[in-house]
Amino acid sequence: MQRLKKILQQRNTIVIKIGTALLADKVNGIHTERLAAIAKNVAHMRMLGKNVAIVTSGAIGAGVAALHLNERPKTIPEKQATAAIGQPLLMEAYETAFRTQHQVVAQILLTKDDFTNRGRYVNAKNTFASLFDHGVVPIINENDTVAVEEIKLGDNDNLSAMVATLIEANLLLILSDIDGLYTDDPAYNPDAVLIPVVEKLTPQIERLAKKSKSEMSTGGMVTKIQAAKLCIDAGIVMIIANGKNPETIKTIFEGNFRGTVFIPGSKKISVRKQWIGLFSHPAGAIVIDDGAANALLKQQKSLLASGITAVRGEFKTQEIISVFTMSGKEIGKGISAYSAAEISMIKGKKSSEIEKLLGCKAPAEVIHRNNLVMGEE
Ligand code: GLU
Repeated sequence: MQRLKKILQQRNTIVIKIGTALLADKVNGIHTERLAAIAKNVAHMRMLGKNVAIVTSGAIGAGVAALHLNERPKTIPEKQATAAIGQPLLMEAYETAFRTQHQVVAQILLTKDDFTNRGRYVNAKNTFASLFDHGVVPIINENDTVAVEEIKLGDNDNLSAMVATLIEANLLLILSDIDGLYTDDPAYNPDAVLIPVVEKLTPQIERLAKKSKSEMSTGGMVTKIQAAKLCIDAGIVMIIANGKNPETIKTIFEGNFRGTVFIPGSKKISVRKQWIGLFSHPAGAIVIDDGAANALLKQQKSLLASGITAVRGEFKTQEIISVFTMSGKEIGKGISAYSAAEISMIKGKKSSEIEKLLGCKAPAEVIHRNNLVMGEE
């Protein structure tokens, strides 16, 4: 909790995720009063020197209200059309709420590809940095209108955790219509108790995240726990709290609130390793012998050519590859210093032989430790 206190007091970067249940309903559309109160609280945090990014849901919800539909659409084209109608309405409501607070906002719509493609990831990161330099509050949603099933994230809990890692946030605050994680579903069990702090995501905690869903929202507690997993891996503190009361943001920063705090361990991995471990897609794979697997898993060594027994797929230098043991277990991922064709030539060879084989100066490591993420990292 000391860590949380420090984060709350420092000038740093935070992501706030606001769920559909707080923002829109099918009868009244967007809840502009609640948004106005949230904007006021966020503007206050900006005054305290924090960079704030908001991940918002509610595009489909606002579209449902605008079209006077009775329920959320089910098919992909209908959902996409509804989001296309609702997103500008949502953004208009944010712009109005923040203009009243003399705060400029920007719209950023992201898809999964913006995270898995290294070039787009770095580009998005630079855009956020530039917006923060200008003192702007980015308002982010998934680009629902173009995100077809294969490139869809599907829920904004996961999106908010991915944005938090992208912008190296210190804290992700998920505002929902529930107080936090309970020992059971409070809608059915009156004895359910709120869990204030989670320091480890045990299977028991994951079981608690039963599918508690409201009619208009997407994820419930399951996706919030997935988001917590991402945050814990990336060393980011995450809080789930009830955003129905707009003062919640204020009470959190006063250090006195009701909610569930997920505290990551103190082990911090580099931002590049985070990207490799969390988002990258391997272009190919290599198989290594037991000696090399032991050196990677137990001795924190780099991967040398001598331990490689096979190469799979066609990949180029600097692409991401998976590392498999001889028994077929994937134990890590990393950036390959060599192409697949080159590894076919040097596999099983000693480092001193590599230069001769390739006819040029060449690094001894096929995957350097700094570019390698093992399963347990
Ligand atoms: N992107 C969706 C929307 O704006 C929300 C997804 C979610 O609720 O998690 O409606």
